[in-house]
Amino acid sequence: DEDWADEVDEQEHQISGQVNNSPVVAAEASFLAKVLRNKLVQNRNEVEVHRNDPSSPLHSVKSFEELPLSEQLRRGVYDMGFGKPSKIQETALPMLLADLPNNMIVQSQSGTGTTAALVLSMLNRVDATQNFTQVICLLPTYELALQTGQVAEKMSKFCPEIKIGYAVRGERVSRGHKVTDHILFGVPGTMLDWIFRHKAVDPRKIKMFVLDEADFMIAIQGHQDQCIRIHKKLAKDCQIVLFSATYDDEAMRFAKTVVPDPIVTRLRREEEIPDNIKQFYVVCRDQEDKWQALSNMFAVLSIGQCIVFCQTRESASWLTTKMTAEGHSVALLSGEITVEQSLAVLNRFRDGKEKLLITENMFMLGIDVEQVTVVVNYDMPVEHSGGPDFLTYLHRIGRTGRFGKNGIAVNFIDGSRSMNIMKKIEEHFGKKISLLETNDVEELE
Ligand code: ADP
Repeated sequence: DEDWADEVDEQEHQISGQVNNSPVVAAEASFLAKVLRNKLVQNRNEVEVHRNDPSSPLHSVKSFEELPLSEQLRRGVYDMGFGKPSKIQETALPMLLADLPNNMIVQSQSGTGTTAALVLSMLNRVDATQNFTQVICLLPTYELALQTGQVAEKMSKFCPEIKIGYAVRGERVSRGHKVTDHILFGVPGTMLDWIFRHKAVDPRKIKMFVLDEADFMIAIQGHQDQCIRIHKKLAKDCQIVLFSATYDDEAMRFAKTVVPDPIVTRLRREEEIPDNIKQFYVVCRDQEDKWQALSNMFAVLSIGQCIVFCQTRESASWLTTKMTAEGHSVALLSGEITVEQSLAVLNRFRDGKEKLLITENMFMLGIDVEQVTVVVNYDMPVEHSGGPDFLTYLHRIGRTGRFGKNGIAVNFIDGSRSMNIMKKIEEHFGKKISLLETNDVEELE
């Protein structure tokens, strides 16, 4: 048994070690965003609800008082600093918490409060007088499982009778031993192992089955099958809830196969450039001119911090070397480092130890650093086809202007190709990008 467990552990290790595998990188970026975020993401769209039975009651709540929660759980929620439900919580919580459990697919941009809603629903489902696992929550990576479990531990601060466990690498169960934790957070491989191999968890006793970050989950090799194998063993009346930050076809196809007769709640992402971010471009003759412009710009910008986006790892590390040689203190965040290292780099940057952070696409999207006043597109974001990548542009420049502060985005244009891309971006979002003469840089302040 032990051997077999090692094998599974090894698999999970390999999965989290595949940094070049983009689904894993994406899941790690999502983890980093969660760890570093401490405020809700605002979204002005309406929550959409789709359900097969339109006669089933639909109401949203404006306060946690209106929800059927125990006093201890409510205290836990307030203790976390949540004054009132977030937008997605207003609509999703009444359905998640209903006495007659609803199966649900929740799709909402990350940062809008879905984890908190799922965790609250899981805690609420537990009957702490019964000592067996009643809720399973599957997540794509080890880090995300621990992170989400910690939210549950915090929220259940006043419910010490609720026991929370982790089905992840390093956690062992022996044959014949039944897990008594009420809620288990885990990755699909280990959870499968505990259910099938060790019979430590009885799937028919599960009252609530949650698939969090399902979009990342299905993108990782093997996870989809593992989820489905567990899912097949559940009792008919088990409540199934799936969360996905994106609404692409594959994620939704998977969602509909595992969640029977679901209520779908959806909060569409806002895709506008906020008014408090001013966009500029500078024209550079060549590579030399380009990094000189950055160096000059950075020398005069005395306040705040700056994130520079490059298109590839190579250009990010090249630029870091150049800027460091110029005497700037630079943090590099690149796909080659582990998730722990990335977190360390980001924490240093957050603490202001470095003023300039250079990165290629993936990592910084979704991460908030309040003091970031300038974002530079050293390379314009392009899709594989070579066309403009509008969403990445929006996410990149959205790293500044957080919490209503003013932000500046500067695009480095080094030829007709990048100029064309910029023009298309300008047209797409309907917001002007103004020319910045290099000797006007002082004006940015
Ligand atoms: P998501 O899972 O959608 O990324 P989270 O549930 O992690 O979002 O919430 C994002 C941030 O907002 C977290 O720091 C969380 O503690 C906080 N948060 C969640 N719900 C509320 C609320 N109702 N009021 C205030 N803050 C909240």
